[in-house]
Amino acid sequence: MTALRAARDPDLVVAVFERSVREGCNAAISSGSLAAGGTRFQREAGIEDSPARHAADILAASGDEEWAPVVRALCDVAPLLVEWLADELGYPVEIGADMPRAGMSVPRLHTDVGRLGGGRLMAHLRAALADLPNVAFVDEAPVVELVVEDGAVTGLVVEQNGERQRVRAGSVVLATDGFAAAPALMAEHCADLGTPFYGGVSSATGSALPWLASLGATFRNMGACLRSGLVVVDHGTRVSPALPFNGAVLLDAEGRRFVDEEAHGYSSMAGVLRDQPGERAAMVWDAEAMDATRHSEMMRDSLAAGAIRDLPDLPALAAALGVAPDAAAAALEPLPGRRALAAPYHLAWVTHGVLATQGGAVVDTTGRVLGPAGSPVPGLYAGGGTACGLAGPSSSGYSSGNGLLSAFGFGWIIGDHLAARG
Ligand SMILES: Cc1cc2nc3c(=O)[nH]c(=O)nc-3n(C[C@H](O)[C@H](O)[C@H](O)COP(=O)(O)OP(=O)(O)OC[C@H]3O[C@@H](n4cnc5c(N)ncnc54)[C@H](O)[C@@H]3O)c2cc1C
Repeated sequence: MTALRAARDPDLVVAVFERSVREGCNAAISSGSLAAGGTRFQREAGIEDSPARHAADILAASGDEEWAPVVRALCDVAPLLVEWLADELGYPVEIGADMPRAGMSVPRLHTDVGRLGGGRLMAHLRAALADLPNVAFVDEAPVVELVVEDGAVTGLVVEQNGERQRVRAGSVVLATDGFAAAPALMAEHCADLGTPFYGGVSSATGSALPWLASLGATFRNMGACLRSGLVVVDHGTRVSPALPFNGAVLLDAEGRRFVDEEAHGYSSMAGVLRDQPGERAAMVWDAEAMDATRHSEMMRDSLAAGAIRDLPDLPALAAALGVAPDAAAAALEPLPGRRALAAPYHLAWVTHGVLATQGGAVVDTTGRVLGPAGSPVPGLYAGGGTACGLAGPSSSGYSSGNGLLSAFGFGWIIGDHLAARG
C-alpha cells in the first residue's frame, strides 16, 4: 500500500524488498476484513458511521487514550482507502452488513464480494504494483540491517542468494510485521498468554526490533496480541466471529454455560478460554446460524477441514458433549433476549490462539519512527505490525479490523507523505 501510494509521484523510485512471498504475509492469510467508518458502501446500505465513531469504538475497547491521535489518523484515512481500492484499483468491495463484531457499534467491516479473504486482496494489490513503472518488487530479498549515517537512516542491506547488498534510500519504511513467530520474543513479552496455537505466518519474526532498538526507538504495548478464541481444536481453522451473534453458545468441558458469548470480541474471548479446564470450550450452533455464516472464508475452511460436527438432535449433541440430554437442554437455554437454537446442531471444540502481535515502535501520526527524545529518526517510517497497534496494553482491547487498519492505513499515510515530499 505504501509503495502504491508513493509511486503516484513519478519522480520517486520505490523498491519493495520482500523476505519471501512463498513464506507469506499475515495480510494474505487474513480474512481481509477492512474496518472503515463513513464509506459510501455503508451509506448505500443505510448505515450511519464516521471516522470519529470508528475511532471512539476502538478507543473504548483499548482504553489507550495516549494513542488516540494515531487511532484518529488511521480512522480518517480508512474510508478513503477502502473506496480507492474499489474505485481506482477495481477491487470488488462490499460492506459486511452480516459481520457483527463485539464493540463495533455499527457494521463497518468491508470485505470482498465472494468472501475469499486476504489472499485475493494481496494478489490484487501486488498485480497493481506490478503495473507501475517506478516500482521494483524484489522477492526472496530479506532486509538484514539498516544503513545509518549520523543518526539518519540512509538505506538498508538486503540478502539475496547468500550475498549482501547495500541499497541507498531517501526513506526506509519498515513493514515487516510483529514478532508472533519468534518464540523467544513471545516468551519475553507475552508469557502470560501461555502456549497458544499460533495461526500467523512464519515470517513475523520481529526482524525490525533490533534495528529500531539500536536507533533508540521506544516500544509500546508489547504484551498485547491479536488473539482468537475461535480456533478449532486439532484443526487450526477458525469458525466465524459472527456465530455468537447468531445464537451460538459456548459450553465448558462439563457441558455448562460459562460466558455471555456476545460480550467478548474474539481476542478477548481467547483469554476467557485459556482459563477454562483444558483451555477449550464446545461451540454449539444450529442451521440458522450456519446459513448466516457459512459463506465466510473461515467457515468454508473449517467445513473443508472436517472441523465441524453435525448432530441431528439433542441426544446426539448430549452424547457428543458427554452429558445427559436434560443437562444439554438446560445449557442451551437462551440468555434473555437471545434466540433459542433448534436441532439439528453443529459442534466445534474451540481453543485460544495468537494470530499476530500488537505491540511495536512508537511512531507519529505520519508513521515516522520516534527516537529517544521523541523526535523523528530521519529517514525512517514504520507501519502495520512493526508499529505500536491499536489494541492498547492488553489483547482484550483488540477491535476487529485493527490489524489491516494499521497496515493499510499507515501504508496510505506514509505513501502519501513520501509522494508529497517528492
Ligand atoms: C489468520 C489471520 C486473520 C486475520 N484477519 C484479519 C482481518 O480480517 N482484518 C484485519 O484487520 N486484520 C486481520 N489479521 C491481522 C492482519 O493480517 C495483520 O495485522 C496485518 O497483516 C499486519 O500487516 P503487516 O504489513 O504489518 O504484516 P504482514 O501482512 O505480515 O506483512 C509483513 C511482510 O514483511 C515481510 N518481512 C518480514 N521480515 C522481513 C525482512 N526482514 N525483510 C523483508 N521482508 C520482511 C514478510 O515476509 C511479509 O510479507 C489477521 C491475521 C491473521 C494471522
